Amino acid sequence: MDRYCVFGNPIAHSKSPDIHAAFAAQTGQHLAYERRLAPLDGFADAVRAFIAEGGKGANVTVPFKLEAVKLAQALTVRARAAGAVNTLVFSEDGIIGDNTDGAGLVADIVQNAGVAITGKRVLLLGAGGAARGVVLPILEHRPAQLVIANRTVATAEALVEQFAALGGAGVVAACGFADIEGAYDIVVNATAASLSAELPPIGPSVFAPGALALDMMYGASPTVFLQFAGQHGARLRDGLGMLVEQAAEAFALWRGVHPQTADVLNTLRAKL
Ligand code: NDP
Repeated sequence: MDRYCVFGNPIAHSKSPDIHAAFAAQTGQHLAYERRLAPLDGFADAVRAFIAEGGKGANVTVPFKLEAVKLAQALTVRARAAGAVNTLVFSEDGIIGDNTDGAGLVADIVQNAGVAITGKRVLLLGAGGAARGVVLPILEHRPAQLVIANRTVATAEALVEQFAALGGAGVVAACGFADIEGAYDIVVNATAASLSAELPPIGPSVFAPGALALDMMYGASPTVFLQFAGQHGARLRDGLGMLVEQAAEAFALWRGVHPQTADVLNTLRAKL
């Protein structure tokens, strides 16, 4: 049976084994998928040990996504643009690093929420690892505008510079939270503020009528950001759909078949 795993530290909380087991059952693929706790100073060794045991691929989560870039012998375009790897493929040619987080977010917005990105005004709050990973997949859908707002403006400006050369020229712009202008059709919270139950300092006017507000974080109850967005008329999505969709992208990469995600998402939601 082909073997896969997710590396992280901590890892006990990971929902990936449940998600991939459900995908495997649904598609009739025979595979095993486990959690692997890698020592903080031993990620590369842990990966090599898994390959030696016959592992075919792996997911990578906090805090190893940057280290996985260095470990990979080849990177996909989107992994290089993200500067982070969340999916590894162990092939005869070596270790290939990919990043499916951004594709997961876009799939959740376009397919699950039914909201087109093309021609829309998109506001991305935050410029950390999660934000950087979604910029290229969003730009590939040709939004009218993508504004990246961050507490540390220089970090957002660096992203704009990077992505201007990757098809974002004239579309992508940076600013601080206090300088956000206009209203947006899609507002994505990729800051870590939700982890400490804080609202990024935005005003209600950022939400255009009928806007979609998506928080990358998920939990049993709506985040402070989603509560705020809901009070100002936005449609709401948390990050659970992104999680399931990034897993589906990884599964398709490994197995060549793209699973259906709706039932898996509903089952996970019921267990939150
Ligand atoms: P990083 O630490 O790389 O980046 C954190 C970002 O949040 C920075 O832009 C930082 O700004 C900003 N920030 C932190 N605290 C505050 C605050 N109090 N107010 C405003 N901005 C703040 O984290 P990640 O990018 O890895 O993760 C961000 C979020 O995305 C987390 O909630 C994480 O759980 C979620 N996530 C969800 C995924 C999913 O599949 N659903 C996948 C990956 C991440 P500054 O630059 O100024 O420090």
